[in-house]
Amino acid sequence: MTWGKGPKLEQLAATIWCFAATGKVHLALTAHNGAVLNRGGTGDIQMADDADVIVIGAGLAGLVAATEIADAGKRVIVLDQEGEQSIGGQAFWSFGGLFLVDSPEQRRLGIKDSVELALQDWMGTAGFDRDEDHWPRKWAEAYVAFAAGEKRDWLRAMGHRIFPVVGWAERGGYDAMGHGNSVPRFHVTWGTGPGIVEPFERRAREAAKSGRLIFKFRHRVDALSVSNGAVDGVSGAILETTSVERGKSSSRNVVGDFTLRAPAVIVASGGIGGNHDLVRQNWPKRLGEPPKFMISGVPEHVDGRMIGITEQAGGRLINRDRMWHYVEGIQNWNPIWPRHGIRILPGPSSMWFDASGQRLPAPLFPGSDTLGQLHYIMGTGYDYSWFILTQSIIKKEFALSGSEQNPDLTGKSWRMTVKRATNKGAPAPVEAFKQHGADFIVRDNLADLVVAMNKLTGNDLLQHDAIRTQIEARDREITNPYVKDAQVMNLHNARRYIGDRLIRTAKPHRILDPAHGPLIAVKLNILTRKTLGGFETDLDSRVFGRDHQIIRGLYAAGEAAGFGGGGVHGYRSLEGTFLGGCLFSGRNAGRAAAKAVS
Ligand SMILES: Cc1cc2nc3c(=O)[nH]c(=O)nc-3n(C[C@H](O)[C@H](O)[C@H](O)COP(=O)(O)OP(=O)(O)OC[C@H]3O[C@@H](n4cnc5c(N)ncnc54)[C@H](O)[C@@H]3O)c2cc1C
Repeated sequence: MTWGKGPKLEQLAATIWCFAATGKVHLALTAHNGAVLNRGGTGDIQMADDADVIVIGAGLAGLVAATEIADAGKRVIVLDQEGEQSIGGQAFWSFGGLFLVDSPEQRRLGIKDSVELALQDWMGTAGFDRDEDHWPRKWAEAYVAFAAGEKRDWLRAMGHRIFPVVGWAERGGYDAMGHGNSVPRFHVTWGTGPGIVEPFERRAREAAKSGRLIFKFRHRVDALSVSNGAVDGVSGAILETTSVERGKSSSRNVVGDFTLRAPAVIVASGGIGGNHDLVRQNWPKRLGEPPKFMISGVPEHVDGRMIGITEQAGGRLINRDRMWHYVEGIQNWNPIWPRHGIRILPGPSSMWFDASGQRLPAPLFPGSDTLGQLHYIMGTGYDYSWFILTQSIIKKEFALSGSEQNPDLTGKSWRMTVKRATNKGAPAPVEAFKQHGADFIVRDNLADLVVAMNKLTGNDLLQHDAIRTQIEARDREITNPYVKDAQVMNLHNARRYIGDRLIRTAKPHRILDPAHGPLIAVKLNILTRKTLGGFETDLDSRVFGRDHQIIRGLYAAGEAAGFGGGGVHGYRSLEGTFLGGCLFSGRNAGRAAAKAVS
């Protein structure tokens, strides 16, 4: 592939110049207008650039950045270590949930949201408390304004559509200034993950056709090149062609190497969630010991390698101890990537017990406070916990995060989606887990259920009597609409929201009522997912060095930049904010880099 019709002689001259200057042959893809080799005013020898901007990573953040650059009329190379079949990275697998504020979807459901309320929730959730939170805080303010402003229309103009029922994630349960969403804000993309990748992949492919964008798959970046304090290129290995299916692990066999030059490089290489060693190394003390057993909520390519490489080039990594892992992970009975786990997006009714059978304290109910739950669970000395629920609850309340686990929404089938509300059983993928999943137990009575739970973990930590006493106590609270049990109060609160009543919260009932059975227990594992820290950047996504000065030519976006600034979330997330963070930081990076190279 070339950048159109570059004059071949100039290219040859450029190569000879590079050889003379460095002793290395550097093959510029083509020479092009204004990018010929010359001696700059400083006396430095400048070699031909292969592009105006190089983007590392063809995930969502990289695609957004690249399309902005191409649309600005600049030439961009997008590199990815995976094959073309994995374009879109993690976003393809995602549920496509997006944080939006005061959207038409919310208003139609009677939700009164505002930028002030969202900012209050964001700040209460983030808990920014460090000097290095300066830029993350600025990003948070800008991001909430984006989510309440142009985000929806910008996406809509590209053909993106939203499922009309808005979800209510991370509900908190503390006070108005504490963690959590005061109102439902989780907008599911119609088409889930593929539906959010599609507009950017389409735009990128159009740019590729016109010659402004070149994809180079199976190109793994191993180093950033720095000259006179500015990043001006990358080098790395060409990996052998692969035909593995999307998401599966691909080989790391090297068949060649490459060096590319550009005045701007954007690191959009994702986080560390697929690399359990790095997760454990960076595990924050405040969450206890790192779990011994974890499952992976991300493909293996989320290896964090590029983070170390960017650090080596001088990038300032901040908040590396902030991460977002889930506690409702189940082992995928039909795995795609190694240690593949799926997160249950739980409705509010399941009873939650720790490994020794103690009910989790208020407000740690399903869907309330992910890191609060993680903290509690790690404090028990075990790295798993249990849901106990009924068939009526699983049918209405279990959703599985992942595009492949939601064929109705992913396939944009209204017929199948309506069945969520009308079906006798749970959605087919949930029923499949119930049947085949290693963490699921289904029994007709509690005594048998507890025996099977102990058998699964190979211990006798759970006492049938103690669990029965707690369930019966909760069940007695179901008779009245005004109660003492905070979780049951939450159910009544949730059902006052029409979205929850329709598809998310089962009618309150006794867990031990056989009419709602059978009983189900789910062993919940810790599932790695998101990296909240990242490279410190300004609002143009320009990376700071360890000396607190901007590194010329270096940008970071998406998860590698902590979704903006080096950690736009602070300690915790309101959910649906990761894809959005990739959109916003990718867009800022692309626009700023295109402007800088003008
Ligand atoms: C199952 C699942 C469900 C999710 N659901 C949601 C949701 O509903 N809402 C939400 O907001 N977020 C969700 N997320 C999170 C969100 O999808 C990710 O945080 C986001 O897509 C990350 O995008 P990225 O572009 O920063 O990184 P990635 O998608 O990880 O892309 C990075 C790319 O860089 C490449 N790369 C890495 N290192 C190199 C190198 N050295 N050289 C060349 N290439 C390299 C990788 O191969 C990869 O293709 C979900 C994630 C998963 C996995």
